[in-house]
Amino acid sequence: MTGLMQGKRGLIMGLANDRSLAWGIAQRLHEQGAEMAFSYQGEALERRVRPLAEQVGSDFLVDCDVGDMAALDRTFAQIEERWGTIDFLVHAIGFSDKNELRGRFVDTSLDNFLLTMNISVYSFVAVAQRAARLMPNGGSLLTLTYYGAEKVIPHYNVMGVAKAGLETATKYLAADLGRDNIRVNAISAGPIKTLAASGIGDFRYILKWNEYNSPLKRNVTIEDVGGAGLYLLSDLASGVTGEIHHVDAGYNVVGMKAEDAPDI
Ligand code: NAD
Repeated sequence: MTGLMQGKRGLIMGLANDRSLAWGIAQRLHEQGAEMAFSYQGEALERRVRPLAEQVGSDFLVDCDVGDMAALDRTFAQIEERWGTIDFLVHAIGFSDKNELRGRFVDTSLDNFLLTMNISVYSFVAVAQRAARLMPNGGSLLTLTYYGAEKVIPHYNVMGVAKAGLETATKYLAADLGRDNIRVNAISAGPIKTLAASGIGDFRYILKWNEYNSPLKRNVTIEDVGGAGLYLLSDLASGVTGEIHHVDAGYNVVGMKAEDAPDI
């Protein structure tokens, strides 16, 4: 199976390092012939992202803070100038003050609520508006979400509320953009140790709990996420839109603690 993404070009947003979910997706897309641009947030990250982009044959990097609409406009203008059109986009971005990703949700501040919604939810809408203009022949947009949108996960707090918003935004965007043959989907990934995840209180406990209680009795990897990302971004998923696709070793179907799960 090679060449699924041959002739397709797209933007990967949210690559921070080689543990990022975006990296798992970018590698799979590269294996299948995709051409990719990468956006990163600020100079410090550029030093990490550039060598990774080079590994997958890209020298196309753009500095873009998704909270800044002018930066988003510049990013898509640069893409249009170089490529004219794109076929796919990955939005692997989320942010919240880590002081509010521990303790109680009820203590969420207004400032951090708005910041979290802006960077983790609205940015996907802002990106979709701009990407759709560069997809005259249709395309595929993908974002990343988590089970904390559906059920209460200790410490996930305001990020869970944001992910619920992101999942619903995915469905509304799918409905709006479907007539232009633009598909919009989300992967709900199981917990994976990344930079962003390290900000969540007691994350190691969440990892253990998932490992012991998921049907596959393991945690997922960025390679698992990459495979599903490739499917949703390629023509293999040509009839799929508005979908929240779980890549979580089956954890979301389980209703109670496994009998053989050790106490943790
Ligand atoms: P990561 O730290 O590797 O990636 C997060 C990215 O968001 C970074 O590249 C960071 O620069 C970017 N970002 C944050 N604020 C930004 C801003 N204002 N402008 C532009 N970029 C910004 O971590 P990750 O776990 O790979 O996260 C990617 C996505 O996957 C996030 O949406 C996260 O919520 C989601 N997710 C992660 C897990 C997990 O367990 N790691 C599980 C499910 C979903």
